[in-house]
Amino acid sequence: MFEYFDIHSHLCFPDYDSDREEQIEEMKKNKIATISVGVDFESSKKEVALAEKHKNIFACVGQHPEDQNNDFNERLIELANNPKVVAIGECGLDYKAKPTKEIQVKMFESQINLAIGIGKPLMIHVRSTDKIEYDAYKDTLNILENYAKKFGDKLSGNMHFFVGNTEILKRILNIGFTVSFAGVITFTNEYDECVKYVPSDMIMSETDSPFVAPIPYRGKRNSPLYVVEVVKKIAEIRNEPFDKIKTALQTNALRHFPLISTIAS
Ligand SMILES: [Zn+2]
Repeated sequence: MFEYFDIHSHLCFPDYDSDREEQIEEMKKNKIATISVGVDFESSKKEVALAEKHKNIFACVGQHPEDQNNDFNERLIELANNPKVVAIGECGLDYKAKPTKEIQVKMFESQINLAIGIGKPLMIHVRSTDKIEYDAYKDTLNILENYAKKFGDKLSGNMHFFVGNTEILKRILNIGFTVSFAGVITFTNEYDECVKYVPSDMIMSETDSPFVAPIPYRGKRNSPLYVVEVVKKIAEIRNEPFDKIKTALQTNALRHFPLISTIAS
């Protein structure tokens, strides 16, 4: 069974073309599993193929708000139904990306509808213009709160790479969404308050590989192998025993991405 879950990585990115299989073998040895995330149709297709090949890889298929291909790809629906696809995304709002707000909202809503329709959780990406207004977080939450009113717990998901504040965090938890923290928490204490605030059954660990490697790998290519550093840091910030946090993060990944436990057992 897997001991560590990196719930957000991009193993199909070209960054791993030279050693993808070695990375995955090393992950297996260390009992690390990951959800490898697509950002458009082509990458989503690759993530599904990789997940079908390896026990410790699960896929997430969707369209990142940065993707310029602005009408939602019908072909994604077929991929979404694959049994190794455990979530839909990454989708959301990115106010530093090129597509207009209007297009981004349309794409985001079509993926929310898809996720609700097939009963899978969402993997949400949010990037605000600044850390004062948190505009994209607020708009994302306005949308999700409306869906939550209408669909209740049929709507579920995770806010990946959380970099908001406690006010934003409360709204996320209020609709039953989880949050995951990435390597950024190893080199800034800006989010410590949030890491401490999340209830132990709603927190998850991720790397967002190949981006933003944690200390002591900062500046290098990131890897799901380094999720251990994120787990260590979460335990340190929360001042809780490492094994307790490790178990909580493992349990949370299985519970909030229910298909993982069905496949893994
Ligand atoms: Zn990502």
